[in-house]
This record gives sequence, C-alpha cells and structure tokens, in this order.
Amino acid sequence: MILENDCLRLALDGSGRIISFADKRSGVNIIAEPVRDPFMLTLVSDDCMENIVWGGAQSDCKSRIDPDACRAEFLYDRLAIDNGRADAGYADISVKFIVSLDGDHVDFTAEIDNRGDYMISDFEYPRVGKILSLSKDSLPKDNLSAASSADSSAGGQPDDTAPAAGKPMSLFWPEQPGRLYHNIGARLAGAHPHRENGSNCMKITYPGTAMMGMCALLDDKCSLFLSLRDPDFIAAELKAEGLPEDGGAVTLVADKNLCFGRGRHTAPPVRIDYYEGDWHRGAAEYAEWMNNYRPAHERPDWVREMSGYFLVINKQQFGYEMWDYTTLPELYRLAASHGFDTLGLFGWYDTGHDNNYPDLEVSDSMGGEETLKQNIQAVKDSGGHVTLYYQGHLIDLGSDYYKSGEGQRVACKTIWGANYAEYYSKSHKSDFLANYSRKMFAIACPSCPEWRELMCERERWIQSLGASGTLYDQIGGMPPYICFDKSHPHDGGNPARAFPGGQTKLLDELRQTAKRENPDFALMSEHITDLYSAYLDAVHGISNLPGRVGERGEPTGVWQFPDVFRYCFPDVPITLRNPNPFIERRAVNYAFVFGFIPELELRYRADREDIRADKYKPQREYAALISNFRKPFAHELASMRYTDDIGIHTSSRTLIAKGYRNDADMLILVWNDSPNECKLDITIEGGSIKEILKPDGSSSPILPPDSVAIVSGRGSPRGQSQGLV
Ligand SMILES: [Zn+2]
Repeated sequence: MILENDCLRLALDGSGRIISFADKRSGVNIIAEPVRDPFMLTLVSDDCMENIVWGGAQSDCKSRIDPDACRAEFLYDRLAIDNGRADAGYADISVKFIVSLDGDHVDFTAEIDNRGDYMISDFEYPRVGKILSLSKDSLPKDNLSAASSADSSAGGQPDDTAPAAGKPMSLFWPEQPGRLYHNIGARLAGAHPHRENGSNCMKITYPGTAMMGMCALLDDKCSLFLSLRDPDFIAAELKAEGLPEDGGAVTLVADKNLCFGRGRHTAPPVRIDYYEGDWHRGAAEYAEWMNNYRPAHERPDWVREMSGYFLVINKQQFGYEMWDYTTLPELYRLAASHGFDTLGLFGWYDTGHDNNYPDLEVSDSMGGEETLKQNIQAVKDSGGHVTLYYQGHLIDLGSDYYKSGEGQRVACKTIWGANYAEYYSKSHKSDFLANYSRKMFAIACPSCPEWRELMCERERWIQSLGASGTLYDQIGGMPPYICFDKSHPHDGGNPARAFPGGQTKLLDELRQTAKRENPDFALMSEHITDLYSAYLDAVHGISNLPGRVGERGEPTGVWQFPDVFRYCFPDVPITLRNPNPFIERRAVNYAFVFGFIPELELRYRADREDIRADKYKPQREYAALISNFRKPFAHELASMRYTDDIGIHTSSRTLIAKGYRNDADMLILVWNDSPNECKLDITIEGGSIKEILKPDGSSSPILPPDSVAIVSGRGSPRGQSQGLV
C-alpha cells in the first residue's frame, strides 16, 4: 500500500514494513532493503523477563489504508511470543500500528490494548529499514513491485531515475554536546561484532544521557531525522544499527521503554523527516516542537554574560582540605587573572566533595559560617560571583539521611527491587584509595515530593549563605532511571516516567524557590538536555571540549558537533567542562566561537600548587586575552540569537564561523582551527561586512593558526524566524 503527497511516497507491505520511502521531487528512494521485523516488543512476565515479540513472526495482520488522509493502520489482535519454550503461544495484547504522512514527515504511533499480565518493556517501533544513501536511489526492482502489489489502488510507479551518487552518510548523534560520525555505515560495520545485545549498533537513552530525542542521517544533499515526539517523555532509546556484512548500511530504530501494564495505552509518537537540504530545517522543526515543553524564563544577565567558570574543590572526598574559606578572595583574583568572573565551589561543606549527601553543613575546619559568608561577600564586592554546589541525585549510604530509613524509602529501585547504585571514588596520591575505595551511592527518585521538598529547603539554606547561585549536580540529564518502587507517586503510575516527570518537577520547584527571594539567584546543573535545560540558568556542559585539530577540514572520523544544540536552543548558557587547572588555547577558541562559557577546575593539591606558581602562564594569558577581547561584545551577544552558519560563506573548511543576529545586525565569531594561517574570506548572504576585529587590535584579514576574530556586519535576518524561542 502506498501513502503519498506532494513531498513523499511511502510504500508499506501488508505487515507494516516500510519497503520504499521516496522523495517525490527527486524520485530517490532510501530503503535499500526492508527490515525483517517492522517492530519488536519485549514483555515481562513472572517467569521470563524477555518474552520477545518479533514483528516478522506475526500473522493475521489486518491492514487498511485511507489514501486521502495519508494514513495506514496495521492491526495485530494478538502477539506470538518467543521465550524459548515450545508452548510459548500468544500474549493477549492487541496493537494497532498507525502510519500517517504529512508534508515531508511521517508519524508512527500505536494503540495498545494489553489484556494480560505482561508488562511491555521494550517497544521498538518504527524500525526504518536498511538505508545506504539519502541522495542516491536504493530501490531494488523487487521492492518496487512488492509495493505496487500490496496496494492495487496505488497510483503510478515512483520515478526511479537515480540522481548523481550521494556521498557516504554521516550520523548526527545526540551525545554530549553533539557529535557527527562520518561514513556511519562503514563505521558500524567495522565495529568488532559480539553476541551481546547491540552488536554493530550505537544506542543512547533519552531524556539524558542523550541531550535531544532525535538523531539524523545526513549527506551533502539530504537529511533524514528520526525524532521522539512524546509529550510524556517516557524513557526511550535511540539506535543506529549497522550490518557487519554491509559496509554502508544503517537502520534507525526508536525503542520506547513503555512499562505499560494491563489496560489501553497509546504509544508515544515517533517522526521521520526526509527532505533535500541541510540539517538546519529538521533541527528547527524539532526545536519548535520541543519548546512546547520547555517553559521560557528570564535568566540573570550575569549568567548570560558570564566570562568564565572557575571550579574549585575546597575539600576532597578523602578529607584533604585545599582552600579554606579565607582563600575565596585569592581564588577570585586567580579566576580574574584568567578573565573568569565566577567561582564554582565544590566540596565546600564539612564532609568534603562526594561525601555524606544530602546531609551537608558548613565546615568549621575551613572557617565556619561567618567566615564563609564574609568571603563570599568579599568576592561579590570585587565584582565576582560565587555558586555553591549541592547534590540533587545521589544519596550517600553512610549519611544519617540514608541510615534513618528515609533515604532508602526515596531511593530509586530496579526491577529486582534493589537500589540502583552509582560509584564515585576519589584519590590523588593514595593508590590504596584508587584501588580499594568503592564509594557507593543510592539514587534519589525525583518523583518523591519529600525529596524535592528537602532539595528546595537546602537551596534556601544556600541562598542564606549569600551565594550568587547553586549548582545542583546531576539533575540536568542523567539516564532516565526506571523506578519500580510502587510506593512512589510516579506520573501515570508508570515506572518509566519516574525520572522525566519527577526531574522536571524537581527542576521547576528549585527554579521557583531560587527566584522567589532573588530573581538573580542562579540555578545550574550538569549535562546538556533539551528538556531539562529550560529550567536551568546555566548548564555545566560535560564532555564539551574541542575535537581533533582541524577536524572540519575533511568529512572523516568523528567531529565534535555542538552546532545543532546551539542552533536549536540558543537560550541555554553552557560551560565547557574542563577537569584541568588550565585551559588549552583550542578550548578557549572553541568556547569563543560557539558561545560557551570557558571553565577550568582546581581539584587536587597539585592543582593548588601549580596555579599559585602560575605554572600555566601562557594558557592563563591567552584565556585572559580572549576574555578581554570578548568582553565589550558580551552584552550584545547575549541579546542576539545564535544562527549557526546560515547566510555565511567562506572557502576555508577549517575556518569555523558562527553567526549571532539581532534583525539585520550580525556578529560573526570566527576560529581558524588549523595549524596554518588562513585568509578571512567571509561573505554574508544579502549583506556586507562592516569590520574585522582581532584580539591583537589589528583588522588584517589574515588569521594566524588557531586564532579567533570577530566580524561585524549586516545581513538578512535569516535563521531567526523559524518558530524558535
Ligand atoms: Zn520512584
């Protein structure tokens, strides 16, 4: 059967498999080979936790098509299961899969009636099919005839005129802070195959650790996005499957961890967009949808214009004290000597970093409460800012909170009923500690209102100490733990909504608590995630460092690709997590061009000695140089919209140029990411360059190796009016 409109033509067989998917304008079909299984479910029962439902092993599918509505349905009244037993039989579950075509996208959803006692754990749908190219026709003739015979009412044949061969596909993957995997089919095929789940496959959970619920195949002509469109944000996983025997093939799969028990349910929608053009259009469309679930809020100017985050661990987990409270003014002077304006204090509490959560108190041995308050104020009086760490996710098993029973009650539980655990063990000089410290933490379930109340109460306490803000760690995008504690009030009674539902409530309550007393009080957390970042004033951007030198010169390997998130959600200030007591020149330049907040960290005793000795003077001076260069533009840049490279042209591939616009006014931040000097040969579509500014004060159009510049100009207001915030 065939669904088609002016943009797309989608052929499905009687079981719901996609057998061709063609762009009507180019005639290019992208399905080289249908999947064997159009869907896959796993069902949990008392005696088996992997009762598998293979889509290709089912029979008795009733299909119907409404060509005018561009909608097809595939009804399975019962599901044959495979659990290794001869009498496995059927699950009393009916599923109606629904495919609908609208413009250049296709939506996939399902209505589920679970009349049995199984819990549906995995729901893989859609499974797209083998894709070899986005811009070269892959349609074998037998697929074409299968499509036609499946629906006698279908119109003519797709245009099978193959356009020029496309280049190998790249995969945009929503790892922090976004990565682009070139020649993804060959990469997946070349991975060492194994017999565990997920051989030759990339997969990532959402919301968190994936920063967005979408991935995209891209080539030099076309884009294909697979995106989750679930308003409940049920825990899900994106998969890109390769084939060891086929070096160019990729299959995209959306797996929702529904945790649906008995009753009628609707499966979360998944969308595929396919069009000729680059990624900006599909990303903007995803962001427009996503922003329905991202409450807008005003962020403090000092956060939006933050010049650098100077992270300090005052006291380590193992008890070593490095920076007592009287050293805060000294730390601020050190920060300012790098051009940084904000101190981020970790381990400032009595028991040191990664200890005793959530029972934190001011440390007497580091100076006591009055000394802490006085020195925070001294930093603020010098024009700086101080954020204090709190932990929003981990519960130390040694804390009174845990031992009282309350910690065990709010702890997130696995399907076995045990606590989930995470381990954070710190050491510096002691190999004994490195080898044998196993510091175990339980995970708080954010759906528990008592936990959220405790977190808000502790936030008010941090405010009372005079801090400029708090970094509430690990609540910005850890994996969406599925919590099976039935005493917790999870949204919809669904374990798979424990984290997405609970975390948004926790963040919202923390944000409201922060702003009630002081709108300038900042709430920060770790991990870049579209859903959660809306609630945060700034994100501690993990893994957000530059990739290989000059990597954008050739479309090979893996590129660090923060471009997509920055373009979709430019409202979010993001730091550049850097666990060193210095910041490399390339990291400074990377932060500069993408509009990230540079960061460095003092974590250990040796870091204290080195920074006091100015051991990394060249790096410090370069960080300060670029900070001072950017400073006069900080306010203007904060008021502009990041529009990526739209409307900007340059002949150099290693010249990374990113536009910031306010109507026709443009600032283009430029980084020559290469070991060679290059000519700044930028042109602005429909506009003109006004001025070139460089850190050395010159306006020469020659950029030295690994250096930055600002180009001001005017252009058409493109990239600003795509329905994005
Ligand atoms: Zn829970």
